Amino acid sequence: MDSTFVPAVDPPGEPSGDAWWFVFRDRDLLVREATDSAELPTRADAGTGPVAVRWQYLGSLAGRECWSAEAAADAEAPAGMGFRPLRGLYGQVPEPLFALAGRAVQIVEWDRTHQFCGGCGAPTVAVEGERAKRCLRCGLTSYPRLSPAVIVLIRREAAEGPEILLVRGQGFPERFYGLVAGFVEPGESLEEAVRRETVEEVGLTLTDIRYFGSQPWPYPHALMIGFTAAYAGGDLRLEEREVADAGWFTPEHFPQIPPPLSIARRLIDAFVAERPPSLQPQPPSAR
Ligand SMILES: [Zn+2]
Repeated sequence: MDSTFVPAVDPPGEPSGDAWWFVFRDRDLLVREATDSAELPTRADAGTGPVAVRWQYLGSLAGRECWSAEAAADAEAPAGMGFRPLRGLYGQVPEPLFALAGRAVQIVEWDRTHQFCGGCGAPTVAVEGERAKRCLRCGLTSYPRLSPAVIVLIRREAAEGPEILLVRGQGFPERFYGLVAGFVEPGESLEEAVRRETVEEVGLTLTDIRYFGSQPWPYPHALMIGFTAAYAGGDLRLEEREVADAGWFTPEHFPQIPPPLSIARRLIDAFVAERPPSLQPQPPSAR
């Protein structure tokens, strides 16, 4: 589908009937359910459904209005529809709508929790032309909350070719491993956060830290910023409150790695794709 999204704040008027309507009850999205897919309702589709208590204009997708809306905590889904956790909808709704749902849930949550000023408790009003709320009494302006987090793929040269560090967090399933990651602290650069998290979690130092890409991660409001880095020194020493296990792996011996939805997986896939040709899997005919 055409995925040209033009963000906007000030609504063009009342929501139109064919607008995409991202309704959340808590953090679950209203969808029309099918066997192996889900369909996002329009404003008219959802019209018989739960009454939205607040709604926000997001912009337009391929010329079509997009709105987020908040359903009451006890709202029931209309027949044939259900409220579903967002993450489980990956691959079930078209990619542009899935990405917009991640934007929508954060706007709904921010709007719900900023009806009153965090400074003096007076009611807030929406600021025209900006995604912001201002207190009429003390003037405090609040913007949607974003928490930057870094994630890093660490590589090391070994006899059998390059390998990467994978870590299993406390509470992860037995075979499930990911990458070193953590939230950026106040006053810290992204590169400093990468170095600090790596020392804290696994006791290693890094060199050649390079930006890879980023990804909104609306669970609940992180922005993941991905890096690659090379191992510089140190022996694995695990921060036991967070990390259950860590080790160096070549693709032939990968444990269960993160699903395609995540930037962790994009980092790992890029590493695998960039290995020297001699280490790439050979087609059966060449063996
Ligand atoms: Zn105030």
